[in-house]
Amino acid sequence: MPPIINKENCEKCGICVEICPEDVFLGTENKDYPKVNYPDECWHCSSCLLECPSEDSIKLRIPISRMLLKA
Ligand code: SF4
Ligand code: SF4
Repeated sequence: MPPIINKENCEKCGICVEICPEDVFLGTENKDYPKVNYPDECWHCSSCLLECPSEDSIKLRIPISRMLLKA
């Protein structure tokens, strides 16, 4: 499942847009909230979540199948 951006907490820093290896947020305007324009490309690497400086700005819903792979 693709990430969900919490606009109330997001600082619009653009780090997640820049760091995503799959360009899930491609097309997001500079200094704007990240737009999940390519949700199917997300492979749940958690990079955006780990690098986001703002708490609770990104929610990542990792599919059960992937959780089992990590277990
Ligand atoms: S979890 Fe990884 S692939 Fe998915 S949006 Fe975040 S950085 Fe991109
Ligand atoms: S890294 Fe976090 S604070 Fe920065 S734009 Fe992305 S969601 Fe917003």
